[in-house]
Amino acid sequence: MSKALRVLPAVDKVLQALQPLAVPRQLAVRVIRRELARLRVETSLASRSDATEARSGSRGADAVWNEVLTRVRAALVRRGRARLQPVINGTGVIIHTNLGRAPLGPAAVAALGRVAENYSSLELDLESGERGGRAACVEENLAVLADAEAATVVNNCAAALVLMLRHFTAGARKEVVISRGELIQIGGGFRIPEILEASGAVLREVGTTNQTSLDDYARGLGAGTALILKVHRSNFHMAGFVASPTTEVLATLARERRIPLVEDLGSGALVTTEDWGLGTHEPTLAQAVAQGVDLVCCSGDKLLGGPQAGIIAGKARLISALKRAPLFRALRCDKLVLAALEATTESYLHALSNGPETVTLGRTIPVLAMLAIPMSHLRERAARLVSALADLPVETVVSQTQGRLGGGALPQSGVESIAVGLRPSTFTVAALATRLRKGSPPVIGHLGGGWLRIDLRTVFESQDTTLAACLRAALGADPP
Ligand SMILES: *Cc1c(COP(=O)(O)O)cnc(C)c1O
Repeated sequence: MSKALRVLPAVDKVLQALQPLAVPRQLAVRVIRRELARLRVETSLASRSDATEARSGSRGADAVWNEVLTRVRAALVRRGRARLQPVINGTGVIIHTNLGRAPLGPAAVAALGRVAENYSSLELDLESGERGGRAACVEENLAVLADAEAATVVNNCAAALVLMLRHFTAGARKEVVISRGELIQIGGGFRIPEILEASGAVLREVGTTNQTSLDDYARGLGAGTALILKVHRSNFHMAGFVASPTTEVLATLARERRIPLVEDLGSGALVTTEDWGLGTHEPTLAQAVAQGVDLVCCSGDKLLGGPQAGIIAGKARLISALKRAPLFRALRCDKLVLAALEATTESYLHALSNGPETVTLGRTIPVLAMLAIPMSHLRERAARLVSALADLPVETVVSQTQGRLGGGALPQSGVESIAVGLRPSTFTVAALATRLRKGSPPVIGHLGGGWLRIDLRTVFESQDTTLAACLRAALGADPP
């Protein structure tokens, strides 16, 4: 045993030295244990090398004690910062999976709060006094919006996909026919082939990466086919010699062969994306239904702008069957999600009946509101931000940028935006990014071309003053 190892202090002693604690005691104990264990490993590793043996061996108990305190204090600060907390999104990516995707609008937040702090009519039919359907209202809203016979909702789109795959492959037919061009990966760890496998389905690939014909699909169908799956290429774009049958054509084939057709739309818009300044069209739930799919699924927290959820719409007979599946119980949404989704879908229904949509939804669905901010307004806000930093040692530039929708939607259409670029005079842009990220609230920008840029389209206007204060704080003192 090396000398340094022997002088590592006891947990209790460290705990005493840290009083008063900024975190609950049990948590502090755990952090102290972890840091001591790390130090022990490092010391024993170091003692294997002669050169460091000399150094660590000669270190006194005081030096070790100070190092322990410094490390534990830093670990406690890191632990505090690791909390789930609001951040200011200056990335220009509207639906940013790492930043929690869609922020909710005021109506959804209010509904969520009301249901959260009270008992609710979650499974009680207030008309009859009998047990009621858990998500009846939100299901009806979704069915109307998708112009479908029925709809339901589960935890997320991945869950929706698993539920449908399990349902259709529960019998003797196990094969899922899918184009090679749609065997995609979405975000971290979501790969269509792996989801299929995990659902007990057998993958039956047809066509090629860039070309899949109706004939390829037709030849892929057989006695073992459970369903045809169409997956929207949501997060990438293929150009050039590319072709695959439309949903409509595929639906005709599926009907003729009496095989269910399921489409995974991913983002799943409810509005016409072109009306929102997006250059390309994102298919809507209603379109997929109109084109003849049996079931379609999408995420609740992407372009739809609601809480995390997986929405399924289509044939009433199939929706009822999915809801009877034992797996449905394991994938169902909690009441907070249902409350927020009910309010979000109600906003859509109001907007669609009151029109013009862009005005009404621009007030209620933050994701859409961000898309609708005029460039001139972003320029004014950028100018105000720049003047709020005028006395600080920082070079600034206001530039036009291409933000992105993100969240696996419309990868090839940028969202025009305005960013404030920052370049501190006394430290690096990378150091500024770190300081902002560790600030309170954290501000996330993007680095590029020697600037740290804060894109204003994804910053709520109500955050402008806080953003300026965060920037001032980060630019103020010397770097740590
Ligand atoms: C994002 C996405 C999913 C996963 O959605 P979650 O709601 O995150 O589970 C599935 N399929 C496609 C095509 C997607 O774009």
